[in-house]
Amino acid sequence: MARVAFLGLGVMGFPMAGHLAAKGHEGTVYNRTLAKAEAWAARHGGRVATTPAAAAEGAEFVMACVGNDDDLRQVCKGAEGAFGGMRKGAVFVDHTTVSAAVTRELSAEARRLGLGFVDAPVSGGQAGAENGQLSIMCGGAEADYARAEPVLAAYARICRRLGESGAGQLAKMMNQICIAGLLQGLAEALRFGEKAGMDGKAVVEVISQGAAGSWQMVNRHATMLEGRFDFGFAVDWMRKDLGICLRTADEIGAPLPVTALVDQFYKDVQAMGGGRWDTSSLIARLRALDPAG
Ligand code: NAP
Repeated sequence: MARVAFLGLGVMGFPMAGHLAAKGHEGTVYNRTLAKAEAWAARHGGRVATTPAAAAEGAEFVMACVGNDDDLRQVCKGAEGAFGGMRKGAVFVDHTTVSAAVTRELSAEARRLGLGFVDAPVSGGQAGAENGQLSIMCGGAEADYARAEPVLAAYARICRRLGESGAGQLAKMMNQICIAGLLQGLAEALRFGEKAGMDGKAVVEVISQGAAGSWQMVNRHATMLEGRFDFGFAVDWMRKDLGICLRTADEIGAPLPVTALVDQFYKDVQAMGGGRWDTSSLIARLRALDPAG
């Protein structure tokens, strides 16, 4: 069993840290809003720290799942950042979805301090975090990854090292590029069916078992048809992720025409007040475009 610290007990981090405790890893948690950390400790046991540095003291592994590039920099390098509290040889594992650039910057800083660093963004959403069934895409030195992998198994369905520092984040970008186009296609098909007078659920039962089937189709078609979006992976987070994809594509010269378009559609959803809606809300935009309803 390892001594672990977990920074960021949001939708994803709270259950992920819970799986570490359930496996018997000895843990300290930190959350910017203290009440969430106290609620976590009341449920799972373990210690609460009031700064990332204090949480990291004595830990062999420090996991983080915060918001964006700046948030990650803050919990790592800020005045009370985790790097300041970690002992030499400890490994920082970042589950936040961030740019490959900030990953490489922090990984280099970690190496300078004698620390390991693994970028390990996740896919599988809130349900995957709660069920301990996440896909984890990793980058970093082989030795750091080899040490972290048995601990990450607490909440992984699959966990793989895909290359050096930043490779995990590049894989997560590929994941988000796939999802963006796929969700727009699904939204268009379901809206097409509505206008054509088809029973969307009955159609999905058939086509989900053929070449059009996808996780999004199976798990999201019913709520899309009902117009329910108050759950899941928020549009605001998706725009952060697509922004990272589009900036990276620009740097490396990769065309992302459909992703760029869907990003603008999500901007429309934000303007409709849907920033916290699930990403399947692209169908709400199509309905709103239609004066006939
Ligand atoms: P969330 O519920 O909003 O939680 C974010 C967590 O980060 C909170 O604990 C928050 O603290 C903390 N935080 C944010 N900025 C901070 C800062 N500057 N300093 C310290 N703590 C800070 O978000 P989430 O849904 O768990 O997502 C977290 C990350 O995972 C994001 O990068 C997201 O893109 C990624 N992700 C999410 C999903 C999903 O389905 N939700 C799936 C895959 C990946 P407070 O409690 O104080 O606000």
